[in-house]
Amino acid sequence: MLTIDRYLRASSLEEAYEAAQKKNSAVLGGMLWLRLSHRHVSTAIDLSALGLCGVEDLGDRYRIGAYTTLRMLETHEGLHRDFGGVIGDALRDIVGVQFRNLATVGGSVFGRFGFSDVVTVFLALGASVELYPSGTVSLETFCGMRGVKDILTHVILPKRQVRTAYRAMRNTATDFPSLNVCAVLAEDALTVTVGARPLCAVAYRLPAAGAGTAEEIAEKIAKETVFASNSRASETYRRHLCRVLVARAVDDVYGKGGES
Ligand SMILES: Cc1cc2nc3c(=O)[nH]c(=O)nc-3n(C[C@H](O)[C@H](O)[C@H](O)COP(=O)(O)OP(=O)(O)OC[C@H]3O[C@@H](n4cnc5c(N)ncnc54)[C@H](O)[C@@H]3O)c2cc1C
Repeated sequence: MLTIDRYLRASSLEEAYEAAQKKNSAVLGGMLWLRLSHRHVSTAIDLSALGLCGVEDLGDRYRIGAYTTLRMLETHEGLHRDFGGVIGDALRDIVGVQFRNLATVGGSVFGRFGFSDVVTVFLALGASVELYPSGTVSLETFCGMRGVKDILTHVILPKRQVRTAYRAMRNTATDFPSLNVCAVLAEDALTVTVGARPLCAVAYRLPAAGAGTAEEIAEKIAKETVFASNSRASETYRRHLCRVLVARAVDDVYGKGGES
């Protein structure tokens, strides 16, 4: 059971950060994951007064506040248009609409969950994260950082001309994914991410032309990626899924349109 001693509605990032440094404190997102934990929280830090909910279009990039919900991302017209609907494709099987109306971008990214659809799609789109007070780091760097006690304030998505595809395998609808894959083809590079390995997603960057057939790319990525087994899938099955899903996603972005 989760127990909380003190609730703090922070009135500034400084106040939130200071409170977050104390032993056993926790920043609150939508609390969907947090509430399932068996933790004793000394101070629960609510960021809802800090204006972190919403998607800003800054011309060359989107700046997404940490308290933006997954459903807001999924239904955002600009994100849908500029990224070919891939964010909606990645998020729509996460539990249900009511759940995605509560789950936040901050909690989803900060958690760096080994089953995350959110990290897989953001990583492929070249996201970075704004941390208070450390500043901006790429999501890829953030995925490898441990023991961070910063406040995640925003996720940045650069706007580029891209073709995108998302593929995931779930044993049953709305379950955690057994594997997920995102492919993003820009003018100069093809990025493929593989997540739910079940470790934090990894990214591969290849030249936009001449990297081989979809099957060759998939074979190489499946060989290089580290997978593990858990109750949803074995390491061997995940490697097999990787071959299949990467080949389909790569075919999709090059316009060959495989069916899952
Ligand atoms: C039953 C269930 C099924 C799920 N299925 C999927 C799935 O299929 N695919 C998928 O991608 N995800 C899935 N998720 C994860 C979910 O989508 C959210 O990512 C998760 O609940 C965390 O988001 P939250 O807003 O609830 O954060 P919380 O639970 O409130 O917080 C999560 C962690 O992040 C910290 N935190 C929150 N916000 C910040 C911040 N701004 N700065 C610093 N630290 C912060 C908290 O202290 C906590 O440690 C599932 C979760 C549950 C409970």
